[in-house]
Amino acid sequence: MPSSPSYIRLLGGRLCLDFVNTTPLHSELSWEGLVLLLEANRIVSADRGAQLLALPQSDPPAAEGLLLKARRLSASLRKALTAMHRKHRIAAEWVEPINEILRITEGHDELIFEDGAWRMEFVAREGGLDWLLAAIARSAAELVAEGPKAPLRICANPQCGLFFYDKSRTHRRRWCSMSVCGNRSKVSTFARRHMGMPDAMRDARLCFTSRTSAVRLWTRDHSHAQTPAAPPKADASRARI
Ligand SMILES: [Zn+2]
Repeated sequence: MPSSPSYIRLLGGRLCLDFVNTTPLHSELSWEGLVLLLEANRIVSADRGAQLLALPQSDPPAAEGLLLKARRLSASLRKALTAMHRKHRIAAEWVEPINEILRITEGHDELIFEDGAWRMEFVAREGGLDWLLAAIARSAAELVAEGPKAPLRICANPQCGLFFYDKSRTHRRRWCSMSVCGNRSKVSTFARRHMGMPDAMRDARLCFTSRTSAVRLWTRDHSHAQTPAAPPKADASRARI
């Protein structure tokens, strides 16, 4: 299995969730992000990925056309997923971009062995560029069709906002990644308990008392506050795509 590009983090547990997670909140999907996601999910090979990365230069209208469709799909899917997570109704206009891609792509289902179990995966027939979005649209359609019972979650770190499909045995997974948001929360909780004061007071005092440790804490705790829409610092590499 080819290794994923180092700054693509596949934490969503569903292709469509990783697709939406590729775009930071209040941002637009980039061409590079789209191509690297396709490569990380083995929808295209590394060689094909490299060709696609050069497409905006070699064939600007083709790349622009696909990117527009991908952005529309991503934005609509985020709305649909947010509604699903809140147990709200999903508007027809949000699923239309999914249906649009499903209508124009052909392919077949294939059994794939992953994580100790067989599952169905859609393999699109290659033709033009639209097929590149077919597996994402199929994944989105399957998730939307699962309805309100789908274990769709949003990371408990309010500054993170990544979607994930909770496949844990207890269905109580809280974080997109324990090693990123889970540990950050633990450190923050530990610091709060041991300092015994609200974050703002603690940090203000630390800035004047212990230069080295204070700067370290300030940097960690305020990395989000300075840029509310940005993902956690540890996710910065993913956020750049
Ligand atoms: Zn997170």
